[in-house]
Amino acid sequence: MKISEHNHFNSIIIGAGPAGLTAGIYLSRARARTLILNEGVVGGQMILTYEIANYPGVEAISGYQLSNIMKKQAQSFGCEIRANIRITDLKLEGKLKQVSLSDGSIFTADTIILASGGRPRTIGATGEEDFKGRGISYCATCDGDFFTDKEIVIVGGGNSALEEAVSLTKYVTKVTVVHQFDHFQAYDHAIREARNNPKIHFILDSTIIAFHGAESITSVDIKNIKTGEILPFKTDGVFVFIGYLPNTEFLLGKLDLNKNGEITVNSDMETSLPGVFAAGDCIVKRYRQVTTAVGDATIAALKAAEYIQIQQTII
Ligand SMILES: Cc1cc2nc3c(=O)[nH]c(=O)nc-3n(C[C@H](O)[C@H](O)[C@H](O)COP(=O)(O)OP(=O)(O)OC[C@H]3O[C@@H](n4cnc5c(N)ncnc54)[C@H](O)[C@@H]3O)c2cc1C
Repeated sequence: MKISEHNHFNSIIIGAGPAGLTAGIYLSRARARTLILNEGVVGGQMILTYEIANYPGVEAISGYQLSNIMKKQAQSFGCEIRANIRITDLKLEGKLKQVSLSDGSIFTADTIILASGGRPRTIGATGEEDFKGRGISYCATCDGDFFTDKEIVIVGGGNSALEEAVSLTKYVTKVTVVHQFDHFQAYDHAIREARNNPKIHFILDSTIIAFHGAESITSVDIKNIKTGEILPFKTDGVFVFIGYLPNTEFLLGKLDLNKNGEITVNSDMETSLPGVFAAGDCIVKRYRQVTTAVGDATIAALKAAEYIQIQQTII
């Protein structure tokens, strides 16, 4: 396919979660010709979120509604959005970046913003997909409050699992930590704090093999890995903290990633390649929230706009 002026953008953003949509709003408003490409439906992980109660200025909103508002806002400034696409090739080096799609389209851009987000690692137990957001959560900061005065299970034995177990005791009456080994992969102080908390109990050498319930979870089956014994266990909810996977498989070998596959950026959200920026859950960082994604993307977009202007001045 011939690349025409029509297929050239000042910026192509990969990912239409809160980071990508925010970058789209800023760049289009700065009159940069901007295209957002998204693999699935627009909204990213926000659409998995029944209620977002910690986004400033909006008291409580469904993730789907918030996504729609961000999408419309970006489009109102002229940002083009293509959803349900598949990227087949990506050239990030050099002045002219190039993105090829499975439908044969080829787009070029002066800058690329990578905002492909990530996904929490799942257990793979029966019923897990059905109860996501209906009793199963992967985010204590987001959902802890919904479990006030309830009994919950936490899956995991690393720092996140134990630290979040302690933090969730602010809300819940009882936490049962289910961990696959008889020891934890966490700092001593995190283990000590969890062990000393009277609300926290442990079931070790075990894993959840099934989730049960109707509207939301009412019980889980916990299997002892050593004995094979299965324990039906009543609970109001399950928090899973067994790691996080960035959506960066398509970037392998193309730019600097850390050992977890997260994109390395500096404080201006610049990656290891000139003209390529990254924002949101796909970058190296500790706190993954809508607000932090939006913040990173603001910086990435402003820096990209500056880069575009400098390139145009040079020409
Ligand atoms: C169940 C759940 C509940 C949550 N609740 C809250 C909450 O209440 N409050 C809060 O602040 N945060 C919450 N979070 C976290 C928040 O949703 C994320 O931090 C935020 O969505 C990250 O935004 P992002 O734009 O970086 O990435 P994402 O939201 O992950 O969006 C990335 C987008 O990129 C697309 N993509 C990926 N790979 C490609 C590719 N190769 N090509 C094209 N497109 C691609 C994806 O399809 C996706 O649409 C929750 C997360 C989960 C999982």
